Amino acid sequence: MPEAPASTSAAPGSDSSRSSEAGAPAVGLRAVRKTYGSVEAVAGVDLDIARGEFFTMLGPSGSGKTTLLRVIAGFVAADSGAVSLGGVDVTRQPPYARNVNTVFQDYALFPHMNVLENVEYGLRVKRVGRAERRQRAQAALEMVRLPEHGSRKPAELSGGQRQRVALARAIVNEPEVLLLDEPLGALDLKLRQEMQLELKRIQREVGITFVFVTHDQEEALTMSDRLVVLNAGQIEQLGTPIEVYERPASEFVAGFIGVSNLLERGGKRFTIRPEKIRLAKEGEPAPAGHHVEGGRIHDVVYLGMVNRYVIELDAGGTLIAVSQNRETAAADALEARGRHVAVSWRDDQTFAIAEPSAVEQTMKQSNEGVVGQ
Ligand code: ADP
Ligand code: MG
Repeated sequence: MPEAPASTSAAPGSDSSRSSEAGAPAVGLRAVRKTYGSVEAVAGVDLDIARGEFFTMLGPSGSGKTTLLRVIAGFVAADSGAVSLGGVDVTRQPPYARNVNTVFQDYALFPHMNVLENVEYGLRVKRVGRAERRQRAQAALEMVRLPEHGSRKPAELSGGQRQRVALARAIVNEPEVLLLDEPLGALDLKLRQEMQLELKRIQREVGITFVFVTHDQEEALTMSDRLVVLNAGQIEQLGTPIEVYERPASEFVAGFIGVSNLLERGGKRFTIRPEKIRLAKEGEPAPAGHHVEGGRIHDVVYLGMVNRYVIELDAGGTLIAVSQNRETAAADALEARGRHVAVSWRDDQTFAIAEPSAVEQTMKQSNEGVVGQ
């Protein structure tokens, strides 16, 4: 298991480290379970999130991401297991007693208050004096690059600006942990990519631990220090983006993140990423150390920067390979359809995938059963 990155915790004696142990993880989950009727939303999760980390929970819809966030925030009580924040057991504490804030996808701004009043709201509840409140709210608005928008109403802002206000409203409280539930989901692609960079910048500047939820694998790979891949309420894999992408630990992860090329040779199952596969003319020698097989190009898709090839291997199985359009003209590539080629890859770029365990099989079946009800 990878080491957590070095912590960038709040300075000793600062407000947010009041009750927490030095060196303890920002968030600790132990054997957390939560069921709704016959659905196991969270099916036994153990996890430590380091201080100052940008941590992502990635998984398809229904995999338990929101439930886990709500268990951390205290909005949902787990059936069993324990939650700690900064080393302090908060399992039985109500949400307001936990030093966390949540940013929701739908912003949840107060429509009748202007932007500054929205941002100050949490401080007002905590009875912070007016002058300090104003000054901290203004600083938070500057952090999200909306210093001039304090007197506007939420309805007078764009979607992206509203999301920034929601963020300012959370960071003004200086929580130890900020929980973000698909906060960019409502934005169009270009704005979403812009906000991804903004979120990273803000997280670096404030040094707060971010626990970010998304179903978008690219978003998870570009933003996270580490991530977990969730499936049916369980952690399939924990690691850095590179580890999870390059060495998927299960068939589920391989399929969910990027293109899954799953092959079975000599009773062993493994994956290989499309960009690691080399295509050559039949009979052309492969580089030393490459495993070579024959195959037929079943399809070619021209994607501008790259071509994607679907190759049926003579020894069984289908692979997807991509190659950059450096030399080949698009027309040449498209003509390759039906041609027989030599396909090769380095053995050290394949990763073994275990057979799904009996437990996983049963879970899959029972989940499918639930869906069908
Ligand atoms: P995600 O956020 O990954 O989409 P959720 O945590 O919302 O997943 O849901 C996980 C599972 O728990 C789903 O099958 C969902 O239908 C179920 N679930 C979540 N909340 C409730 C609830 N309040 N009542 C009943 N079932 C729920
Ligand atoms: Mg959700």
